Amino acid sequence: MSTLDILKSRFGFDKFRDKQQEIVEDALKNIDQFVVLPTGSGKSICYQLPALIQNGITIVVSPLKSLILDQVANLEKKNIKSDAFFGDISIRTRREILNNMISENYDRNIIYTTPETLDNNDEFVNNLVLLKEASRLNRFVIDEAHCISLWGNDFRNSYRKLASLKHTFPNIPIMALTATATPRVRTDTVHLLNLKDVKIYTKSYFRPNLKIFVNQRNKDTFTDIVQKIKDDYNEQVGIIYCLSRKKCEDMAEKLQQHGIDCDPYHAGQGSKLRQSIQSKWQNGETNLIIATIAFGMGIDKADVRYVIHFNMPFSIENYYQEIGRAGRDGKSSDCILYYSYQDKICAEKLILKSVNGETNSKYKQHQVNKLDAMMMYCQNIIDCRHCQISNYLGEYRSYKEDHCGDSCSNCNSKESRVEVDVTDMSKAILESTMRLNGQSKPTKSNIEKMFLKHENFNKFVSSYNGRDNVNNIFRRLFIHMLVKRYIKETFVRTVSGYWRENYQIFSKSKNLLT
Ligand code: ADP
Ligand code: MG
Ligand code: ZN
Repeated sequence: MSTLDILKSRFGFDKFRDKQQEIVEDALKNIDQFVVLPTGSGKSICYQLPALIQNGITIVVSPLKSLILDQVANLEKKNIKSDAFFGDISIRTRREILNNMISENYDRNIIYTTPETLDNNDEFVNNLVLLKEASRLNRFVIDEAHCISLWGNDFRNSYRKLASLKHTFPNIPIMALTATATPRVRTDTVHLLNLKDVKIYTKSYFRPNLKIFVNQRNKDTFTDIVQKIKDDYNEQVGIIYCLSRKKCEDMAEKLQQHGIDCDPYHAGQGSKLRQSIQSKWQNGETNLIIATIAFGMGIDKADVRYVIHFNMPFSIENYYQEIGRAGRDGKSSDCILYYSYQDKICAEKLILKSVNGETNSKYKQHQVNKLDAMMMYCQNIIDCRHCQISNYLGEYRSYKEDHCGDSCSNCNSKESRVEVDVTDMSKAILESTMRLNGQSKPTKSNIEKMFLKHENFNKFVSSYNGRDNVNNIFRRLFIHMLVKRYIKETFVRTVSGYWRENYQIFSKSKNLLT
């Protein structure tokens, strides 16, 4: 039977997608593989199908128990049996699996497990050694493989331990899979997992059916969203992302008051409620989910017509993954991001406070850098949005030649844009920041007050056509100078225990002023 026959008969699909067939057939050659394809591309088939063909056992490592249980249930629906082995399952089931897996008569080819289990459960690992010796251990699959890299999006300490797989099982092939990996994460992952002569599979990040809009959030934003949902997205499927659980609940409640049917979804809800909300949305009973970042991993719905971010995501990786849930069917879909500098400050405070997982300062600094890159993206209203994202993710797209044309607000507003030289105002902002030091708290609002008193302020008002323009330019410039490291932002703990932002100028800026 050909691989295609098996795809049809066991999985019920009539054809392979994109690179699936190539990956499956390479897997049968037992080489190391690294699959970097967007969420929803069908990465699971890439290891499930070879697992069925090869007859021995494939061990799949996945970061979340919920994801594992989903996968097992999905296979079950296709009459394919697999086992889930990790700490939380009953002792009896664990015992059964441990006994069965080494038996010649074991009737399953796939065992899902967690990195913690591989690290802690000696009996399980011993069994794997036995299987290896009996030539019945086919492959290790590392799903969400980016979790191994500090530079990735959701680094997990437990994933680090997977580095030892190649030492213990030098001849067993590894297939690593992930949806987003920057070049740095990619090299890091290959290196940490010790992949040998690895073959990498990728696909372009460019998704022209996503119409990307980025706006500053203001007091009218909520009303605008209500209007848009009623006028443009009536009866259509959507997701609105918010930063916090509370915001998520509030937003859902306010939308319901405006007669919009929707459900909130976040990690504070308990898994039963969350599951029922997700499945209601999945099968079309509700159209709109108001979610935190918790909503996502493993979500699969083809006809999402709009994704709105009410707050700025923590990184471009997150953002790309979240907007990527729109338009899986290839039809035109809107991705609207609202941001404010306040989002960046909130996120940065969260990063500083974070205690779980990796807390070393290098890691935190890296998270802050990602946040800055996200902020820069928001601020860059000139270059094609799609190109900005691709370039960040490591796929080079020239702004001049590869811009999307009309799938982003930057390309669309090209005609109406005017360029002005703002060197004089930049200097005035730096001067205001410098003058403040030692006088009063160097917060942003104090800098703004100082700027209003600047000797050139009235000149700016006349040369930039009014106060409103000057205020807008001030706001944009201020952020620009932060992320471009002209102004230094630090956070200081106040006596009452809060973090307050604090601004100084970098020495390179002093040189500009003389
Ligand atoms: P990923 O892990 O890349 O996010 P999944 O493996 O979860 O993607 O698959 C996403 C969806 O695509 C699943 O519903 C799966 O059944 C479906 N799918 C995968 N391969 C095919 C195919 N060849 N034809 C049709 N549907 C497919
Ligand atoms: Mg997957
Ligand atoms: Zn564009």
